[in-house]
Amino acid sequence: MTFNDLQLNPAILQALAKENYTTPTPIQEQAIPSVLAGRDLLGCAQTGTGKTAAFSLPIIDRLLNQPRKSGSIRPIRSLILSPTRELAIQIADNITAYCQFTDLRCTAIVGGVSQRVQERALSRGTDILIATPGRLIDLLNQKCIQLHDVHTLVLDEADRMLDMGFIHDVKRILSKLPREKQTLFFSATMPPEITKLVKSILVNPVKVEITPVSSTVDRIQQSVYKVEKGNKRHLLKHLLEDPSIGSALVFTRTKHGADRMVRELKKADITAQAIHGDKSQNARQSALSNFKSGATRILVATDIAARGIDIEELSHVINIDLPNIPETYVHRIGRTGRAGMSGIAISFCEEEEFPYLKDIEKLIKKQIPEVKEHPYPIGSFVPAPQTDKPSRPAGMRPSKPKARTHAPRGKHHAGQRTV
Ligand code: AMP
Repeated sequence: MTFNDLQLNPAILQALAKENYTTPTPIQEQAIPSVLAGRDLLGCAQTGTGKTAAFSLPIIDRLLNQPRKSGSIRPIRSLILSPTRELAIQIADNITAYCQFTDLRCTAIVGGVSQRVQERALSRGTDILIATPGRLIDLLNQKCIQLHDVHTLVLDEADRMLDMGFIHDVKRILSKLPREKQTLFFSATMPPEITKLVKSILVNPVKVEITPVSSTVDRIQQSVYKVEKGNKRHLLKHLLEDPSIGSALVFTRTKHGADRMVRELKKADITAQAIHGDKSQNARQSALSNFKSGATRILVATDIAARGIDIEELSHVINIDLPNIPETYVHRIGRTGRAGMSGIAISFCEEEEFPYLKDIEKLIKKQIPEVKEHPYPIGSFVPAPQTDKPSRPAGMRPSKPKARTHAPRGKHHAGQRTV
């Protein structure tokens, strides 16, 4: 099948040719005809499957076929809700590319940046609005935005909206939309609250389920290094001595851990920046664009900040901590191996995380090969010798061990593995 077979508007086909899209991905093949026909859609799909184009191409097509009301400023006819700012901006970038040969306008409004610029863009009118729930609610409260002409709504990554506590905001936004509309609902997982929401808003939806979790990760070369917590940073620096790791997205569980890792890497003359919820939107965007342009080699991220971000040609994902939710592992490593490319995912696993590793292997239905030959195996961590300190007055808590040394066990090539 080609995009021509999907009977999309020639202006869209021209943009797809320019973006070098030749064949539709499975989700595009399955979703586009139903969305063009005006059906509601329930999509169970991960990022990396091409789901953004799957919903936005038919939306653009339908907008091109519907004449705009003359006279007034152009009303918002399509609303796309995204849980994170990065994902919203990325969706807007994609849609702008798909609309480049049309006169449609697309605007993203996200939190963390000045509202003024967004208000100005809205006052000029936009056909497609991509928004994070919080900022949209703010603008609705201030009556800067009207949603009564919206006839297509997309809820992207609905399960993540739930995780991030946005579900009430989403429900409030839903109450401001016309009853009669087409709704496209995407969620990688279907917890009960999401199923309830689906039942309450979708009418006789077409269901599209793409790439069950296990096959998404099949083409990604995965490995695990068992290592003590205190040696993880040393192991990371050791692996990064390998010049074949041109760039890597590194995951940590906490924001604090991300900042600490960036400091460690910088000390070792490795360019690195962090992206997490405590950073301003500008800092996050600039870290992301530096990483995309190659100005920084390492982007250290927490799960929420990195959710859905699309980095073309990302070769390596490194998990400093294993997530306790196995699906998160799949989301993380799915940042590499996109659109049919292969990728490498390396995970560090300390003893406390062994159960997480088991859960992940159960979910992906395969064992992740362990690299046993590396300089920091479990048992090699040696806390720094305690210096003689004056004895602690009664009632004071013992201080945490500070500097810790590591005991490398000879040099090995980073990629060496034993299964
Ligand atoms: P998504 O799942 O929407 O985040 O898309 C993942 C990546 O695949 C993005 O970089 C898209 O630009 C790219 N992509 C989506 N559809 C196609 C296609 N049919 N051909 C080539 N690349 C695509």
